[in-house]
Amino acid sequence: MIIWGTKRVEKKVGYVADFCPICRTAKSHHVRKISMVPHFYYVGLGAGKMVGFLARCMDCGLERYIDTADYVEMIKTEPVSIEELIRATYPSLRTVYKERLELEETLRRSPFKLDSKMRRSLIRNVFDVLSPSVEEVFANGTPIDAGSGLCMCVTVLVLFAFVAVGAAHPDQKLAVYALGILTAISMVATVVSLATSTRGHMAKMLSPLLVRSLRPLRPKQEELEAVLSQLKTMDLRIGKKLKAQWIMDSLEETSRHKQP
Ligand SMILES: [Zn+2]
Repeated sequence: MIIWGTKRVEKKVGYVADFCPICRTAKSHHVRKISMVPHFYYVGLGAGKMVGFLARCMDCGLERYIDTADYVEMIKTEPVSIEELIRATYPSLRTVYKERLELEETLRRSPFKLDSKMRRSLIRNVFDVLSPSVEEVFANGTPIDAGSGLCMCVTVLVLFAFVAVGAAHPDQKLAVYALGILTAISMVATVVSLATSTRGHMAKMLSPLLVRSLRPLRPKQEELEAVLSQLKTMDLRIGKKLKAQWIMDSLEETSRHKQP
C-alpha cells in the first residue's frame, strides 16, 4: 500500500464556449483545474503543482487542456445556451474560427467538394486531436482487462509448477516437458491477450469520438490508411494500433443504426 506520494486532484472551475474539433462547431465546455498534490495516507498536503485546465466538451466528451487566457471569463453556473456562453466567455470565437467554421459549412454541404489535400488534412486533424489522450492513457503501461489478468495468473502458476517439479523430480521428464510446454503456451496466450486488449481498449475509448468526427467527411478506406500510416511512422500509438478497416466498419455500423 502506498502511504505517501502525489495524487491527481481535480477542482471544478466553470464553463466556457469553444470550438470542438470533434463536434465541428462551437460547444459548451466544462473546465476543471488539474493539480498533482503530495499526500500522506491519501490526505492532501498543500496546494500541490498545477498541471493545467482541462476542458470537457459537454456534447461529445472530448477533453483537452486549454489556455485560460483565450477567454474573457469563465461562468460558474451551467450555461442555458451556447450563444449566451459565447457572449459571456469567448465573444471573438466566430472571428477567431471564421475560416474553420466556413470550412465546416462546406464539409456539411458537400464533403467531396474539398480537394484531396484538404480532406486528408481534416482527417489527420481528427487523429491529432485524439492522439494525446491515447498516449496519456497508455503512458503508464497497457490497461489490463480480466482475460489478460487471468492469462498472467495462469502463466505464473504454471511457471512456478514447472520450476518446482523440475527441481524436485528431475527424473519425471514427461511431467517436466508437459509443464514446460504449458508454460510456453500460457506465455504466448498472455502476449496475444495483452495485444488484443490494448486494441480493444483503444477502440472502445475512441469509437464514439472517431465516428462522430469522421462521419461528415465520409472517408474512404485508402484515405484513412494514408493518415494512419503517417501516424505510425511518427511512432504514435493511435497510428500503430488502429486499423482503417475497423474504422470503416464502425462508421458503417453507426450509419446503419441511424437509418430508420
Ligand atoms: Zn464536442
